[in-house]
Amino acid sequence: MTNGVFDVAIIGYGPAGVTIANLLGQYGLAVVVFERDDEIYPLPRAIHFDGEVMRVFETLGLRREVEAISRPGLKGMYFNNAAGETILIRAGTSERGPHGCATNHYFHQPELEAVMRHGIRRYPKVQVNCSHEVTSIEDGNEQATLRVKNLLKDDEYEVRAKYVIGCDGARSMVRKLIGSTTLDLGLHQPWLVFDALLKKEVPKLPDHTVQHCDPSRPMTYCNVTGNRRRWEIMIMPGDDEEQLVKPETLWKLVSNWITPEQAEIERAVIYTFHSVIAQTWRKGRLFIAGDAAHQTPPFLGQGMCAAIRDASNLAWKLEAVLRGRFDEGLLDTYESERGPHVHAFIDLAVKLGGIIQTTDADAARERDAKFKKGQPEIFQFPTPQLGPGFWQGKNAPVAQIFPQPMLSNGRLLDVELGLNFAVIGFEDVFNDVSEVTRERWLSHGVVLVPASSSEIQAWLLQNHVRAVMVRPDRYILGTAQSSAELDSISALLPNLVVLAH
Ligand SMILES: Cc1cc2nc3c(=O)[nH]c(=O)nc-3n(C[C@H](O)[C@H](O)[C@H](O)COP(=O)(O)OP(=O)(O)OC[C@H]3O[C@@H](n4cnc5c(N)ncnc54)[C@H](O)[C@@H]3O)c2cc1C
Repeated sequence: MTNGVFDVAIIGYGPAGVTIANLLGQYGLAVVVFERDDEIYPLPRAIHFDGEVMRVFETLGLRREVEAISRPGLKGMYFNNAAGETILIRAGTSERGPHGCATNHYFHQPELEAVMRHGIRRYPKVQVNCSHEVTSIEDGNEQATLRVKNLLKDDEYEVRAKYVIGCDGARSMVRKLIGSTTLDLGLHQPWLVFDALLKKEVPKLPDHTVQHCDPSRPMTYCNVTGNRRRWEIMIMPGDDEEQLVKPETLWKLVSNWITPEQAEIERAVIYTFHSVIAQTWRKGRLFIAGDAAHQTPPFLGQGMCAAIRDASNLAWKLEAVLRGRFDEGLLDTYESERGPHVHAFIDLAVKLGGIIQTTDADAARERDAKFKKGQPEIFQFPTPQLGPGFWQGKNAPVAQIFPQPMLSNGRLLDVELGLNFAVIGFEDVFNDVSEVTRERWLSHGVVLVPASSSEIQAWLLQNHVRAVMVRPDRYILGTAQSSAELDSISALLPNLVVLAH
């Protein structure tokens, strides 16, 4: 902290807040976090994250801890019709997919948040204040001033920070302060979420996720971790919401799957799923991230994943600007890049919602016939490009996430890269770059990774390039066929040697 001013203040200590706090902590920045609740939010929410998100945990040095409380989901997700026939499949994965791990992982959100909060203890410059509510923020020229209420003592005080990130969830105060309007992508539907704990093995329960697309009662079944199983059940017209959460109704709703003799109820809550994106994510020193910036129906298990991608995109940019290596303009690329990316995921979730939530019997028959004609269609997670921002080029793979191959030394790529920019490619292309590029690489700590492993060579050949430049968040800054092209991409990094003179 300089003169009593934190580098960054984070409001909200859910998945978005705790991920950004870990990333900024790793950079050694002075961070303060405020969370209204005294404990981790206990109700059932996220149960799935993807391989890209596991890489963020890996970057944070928490992969092993996260693996200990999660399980890889190798089989994919099955969309079955009322008769139990599979009409659509989200593809499965191997233990080591393109991200150097499985593509799908299942977990219990409070356990994951506990691991992430434990990770913060490594960073003495990150100060966490639970039971503290931020009540107002004033954005000034040099810093922002936050008014904070200590809910345990009922007193108020002020804190100053150079930047403020509102990770304050769907009802975000920061979003309102920014004056952001909301783009509505059309899906708003209440669902009942019911978590049960098995008392014993129930062999007939699938070990993979099933979207039961039955027009009389659409429902999702998930094997979470250990003995926890989840049913998400669509609320139908005429349902009495008070009755729905009563044990006798819950057991009746899932009677085709399980009985009260086989499991106990952990909890049942009704949520309304939304599909919205805020239209402004930054104003001056204030930013929003996670559910504060966007909400998706959970049919792809992507809400928290998007929050963690926001964290990964914003953290390195804040560090680069705070430490004076980049100018402020870099921070505007946070929304311009992340907005279209999250939009692509929400669009797909809404489309899947249209398939799952069909309640008209004729429409369901038509839907099933369409899918069955070509046998179950298999789809993968999208890998959208970032929106316009800090990258050069036009077509994919530029601005997509770079995979995580194994290196010839047997280590995974991200372990080698840390939080740095990297150039990965054939050595002849590195060797002939200009002196200015070399200086840039040195001053920005760019890591050079020769294409000595067969996995990297295969990727370069498949994409018809000889080198690729990757950002600290693993997204591709640009690709090059020659040293001259590598010079051109590297010129995106400010010339710190010139700046210093
Ligand atoms: C039923 C369901 C299933 C889901 N399944 C998945 C899934 O499988 N995969 C997935 O990726 N996502 C899933 N999600 C979404 C996921 O849970 C959310 O996207 C994620 O929790 C958002 O994290 P966040 O940090 O942005 O917000 P939150 O987790 O909501 O955290 C916001 C925090 O800010 C605090 N706060 C707010 N205002 C203030 C203030 N003024 N001062 C101090 N603190 C404040 C709140 O107390 C809260 O703790 C699911 C959601 C639901 C409801």
